[in-house]
Amino acid sequence: MKGDVKPIIAINLEWCKGCGICYNLCPKEVLDKDEWGKVVIKDLDSCTQCRICEDHCPDYCIRIGG
Ligand code: SF4
Ligand code: SF4
Repeated sequence: MKGDVKPIIAINLEWCKGCGICYNLCPKEVLDKDEWGKVVIKDLDSCTQCRICEDHCPDYCIRIGG
């Protein structure tokens, strides 16, 4: 990842209902849940910006990239 800019993961926590889809689908275990089941970022550096989380969130809470 030398020279790369860090990925940007924008999350709208007000819309997150804690369904678990994003953190269960992320292939790199970037995402995790808090005590209410809402998404949190656990390991930003491992994000490949594959957008699986963004594409599957039913409430459009996640946006990858700038
Ligand atoms: S998929 Fe969306 S609504 Fe479900 S936990 Fe993730 S961010 Fe929240
Ligand atoms: S873009 Fe891909 S690697 Fe990054 S958090 Fe979402 S599912 Fe995980």
